[in-house]
Amino acid sequence: MGVVQKVQARRRYRRMARALTELDRVDRLHGLGVPAPPRPRRRIDPSAAVAIVMVVVFLVLAAAAQLRPVAGTAAPAHDVPTAAQLAEAGYPPLPADASFRRLLPEVDAAGSGEHAFVATEPDGTPIAFDPCRPVHYVINPDGMPEGGLPLLHEAIAEISAATGLAFVDDGFTMERISEDRELVQPQRYGTRWVPVLIVWADDRELAFVGEEVAGVAAPYDVAPSGPGSERYVTGVVALNSTWFAAALGDAEWAGIARGVALHELGHLVGLDHVEDKAQVMHATSDTTGLGPGDRAGLAAVGAGECHSDT
Ligand SMILES: [Zn+2]
Repeated sequence: MGVVQKVQARRRYRRMARALTELDRVDRLHGLGVPAPPRPRRRIDPSAAVAIVMVVVFLVLAAAAQLRPVAGTAAPAHDVPTAAQLAEAGYPPLPADASFRRLLPEVDAAGSGEHAFVATEPDGTPIAFDPCRPVHYVINPDGMPEGGLPLLHEAIAEISAATGLAFVDDGFTMERISEDRELVQPQRYGTRWVPVLIVWADDRELAFVGEEVAGVAAPYDVAPSGPGSERYVTGVVALNSTWFAAALGDAEWAGIARGVALHELGHLVGLDHVEDKAQVMHATSDTTGLGPGDRAGLAAVGAGECHSDT
C-alpha cells in the first residue's frame, strides 16, 4: 500500500468512525433512536408521510487532515507551508479568486443564545471557512422538487448575510454524494478544491444514515500544517427530495422546509445541534427561521481566520 493509499484508507476510517460516533450521539439525544418528531400532516402524500421522519441529523464526514499535514510543519498552527510542500502533499494551488482581506464585512453578533460548533480549536475557536475566499457551490438538479431552487438560493443568501461569508453559485453538476468524495477533482471542477455539493437525495441514497432524515450536511476540513491549522474548504449537503417535495407543496410545511434548509446550511458552515428548540440548529427543530443563538453561532463561524496557504 503506497503512501497515498494509506492516507486514503485512514481518511475513510476516520470518516466512518466519526459518522458512527455521531449517530450514537443522535440516538442518545432522542432516546434509543426513537424520536417523536412532527410528521407531515394531511395534504402531504400519505405514502411519503408514513416513511419520512422529520429528524434532521448530520454526519461529521469531515476528517481532520484529509490531506497529509506537510512534513516538518507540525504545530505551532501558523507555520505556513511553502507552495511546493503543499503541492507535494496534494493540495491545489491558491484559488484564482483568493483574496487577502475579507470579501464581506464581519457580522456583529449583537444577540446571544445557544449555539454549538462542529469542531473547535483547543482554545474553543470554531473551525471555519476562510472568509477571504468565496464558498463555491454546485447543485445537482436531479430530483429537485418544485420550488427547490429558490428555496436553496434564499437560504444560502440568508446564511451568507448571517455569517459574512460570500457564496458563489458554480451552476449545476452531475456529481452525487459519496462517502469518499475526492477534495480535488480536476476533470470535473478544475485544479481547485471541489465546490460544496448540494444534492436532492432519495431514501436509498440516504440509507447510510440508518434512519430516515430530511437532510444531512457536513463541512470538509484540511489542516496544512497539522492540528491547529484546520479550516473548511468544501462540504456536502444532501436534502431528502421526497420530504421536501411534500413539504414545499404544503403551505404550513413550506416554512419548516425553509428551516430545515437553513439547518443543513448551518451544519455546512460549522454549527452543531443545540438543545434549545427555538433555534433552527435544534436536531428536530420545526422553526422556520434563524433564532438569536443561530445568529450568534453563524457570526462566529463567519469570523474565521484568513489563510494564505489554501
Ligand atoms: Zn442537524
